[in-house]
Amino acid sequence: MLPDRTTLNQFLIEERRRHPGATGDLNALINDVAIACKAIAKRVACGGIDNILGASSTTNIQGETQQKLDVLANEMFLRANEWDGHLAGMVSEEMEAPFLIPARFPKGRYLLTFDPLDGSSNIDVNLSVGSIFSILRATMPGADATAADFLQPGSKQVCAGYAIYGPSTMLVITVGTGVHGFTLDPQLGEFILTHPALRIPTAAAEFAINASNSRFWEPAVKRYVDECLAGKSGPRGKDFNMRWIASLVAEAHRILVRGGIFLYPRDSKEPARAGRLRLLYEANPMAFIVEQAGGLASTGRERILDIVPNALHQRVPLIFGAREEVERIEAYYCEHNVADYDAPLFGTRGLFRASA
Ligand code: MN
Ligand code: MN
Repeated sequence: MLPDRTTLNQFLIEERRRHPGATGDLNALINDVAIACKAIAKRVACGGIDNILGASSTTNIQGETQQKLDVLANEMFLRANEWDGHLAGMVSEEMEAPFLIPARFPKGRYLLTFDPLDGSSNIDVNLSVGSIFSILRATMPGADATAADFLQPGSKQVCAGYAIYGPSTMLVITVGTGVHGFTLDPQLGEFILTHPALRIPTAAAEFAINASNSRFWEPAVKRYVDECLAGKSGPRGKDFNMRWIASLVAEAHRILVRGGIFLYPRDSKEPARAGRLRLLYEANPMAFIVEQAGGLASTGRERILDIVPNALHQRVPLIFGAREEVERIEAYYCEHNVADYDAPLFGTRGLFRASA
């Protein structure tokens, strides 16, 4: 007997059958995104062989040095998606202005935003990297999109997903009906449904944060982490483990599969900067996925998906994962907006009083 396997395409067609009015445009678009991810996976897997590792001579709009693979992955996303007639424009981490569909191709009803290679500083050390994407409806179907058309809150996304290029390549997507994970069968070249209906476990035992920034953290974050670190004898009454991969995709994937929480909060290191991660192609797609998997995503002060963007490359604080943990941090933000959090461990709100 052959095993019962569902390919990405079959999954999408079966989803579409539940929406009799759907044209199939969205499915075709998702398939083209999947092709871009497969092409990137192939290059990533070849590592140093094709001399595509290391920094390029260019910097992106954020002033970050681009890796050669950042540039290549961006090209792959553009080429895989510009021709199919489903898009009115694209926004990429690697491009300041929206990419307009070349005149020789028809324009369509959707907008695509993406981070073509997330965690690209991990590439030279052979750790997991990924791609992140988000699909919105075009304001003027069939016409060139303007920058303003992309400034929609994340709650308007029709699809979001990421690919992770790890020991295996996976594509994880939501079209608003839960979160589903597909693993690339490299021989077949097809994504196979391996992780249907992913749910973030409610109880968290792991947290991920860049602790080298702890002196810049806001009181709510300090308190949350202090309480985790205090373990069994602290107010949480249990031990936590800490994780930090410095790749959003890898952190998100671990949390979807195994639970926990991720924090890249606002801090006072660069007060002018609201956060590190970009709203349109990092925070929003991850927030859509996390909520569809039963978790929450927040800045600490507001729900990520409610933010009305004011710029294409806007940065936001990002806290996501197990619902109860995110709610706890939001409560700390509320409390410490009015009252400061004292010195860890011995202050009025510190561990030893809070647990008394
Ligand atoms: Mn990124
Ligand atoms: Mn990137």
